[in-house]
Amino acid sequence: MPDTQLESRKRRDQLLKQIQQYARKAVFGTPSETYRTCGTPTCRCHGPGPKHGPHLYINFRGKHGKTTGYYVPKAAHKPIREGVTAWQSLQDCLRELAEINKQNVLDRARQARP
Ligand SMILES: [Zn+2]
Repeated sequence: MPDTQLESRKRRDQLLKQIQQYARKAVFGTPSETYRTCGTPTCRCHGPGPKHGPHLYINFRGKHGKTTGYYVPKAAHKPIREGVTAWQSLQDCLRELAEINKQNVLDRARQARP
């Protein structure tokens, strides 16, 4: 087997392993931080402030392309943030894997040609 084929097979195996790791943690959505006023009219947040927060909010496009989201409780901030990062890394890995797949298919087609 030529070196380049061996290299791309190694890289492919690496990517598949990384994809599995990222996929376990991946969370879909775009994080943002918001500051809010509460329900107590006499609270500082209704006057000079500061407002309450930051609250972590995750935006995402749900089924039928509708944008939706949810607030993340403080205890879940870290794993949710890590999950969002994992999702992005997952996309990078998938893109690279798809490129290798495409190249392999094209190479095979070329070799099969009489
Ligand atoms: Zn308040």
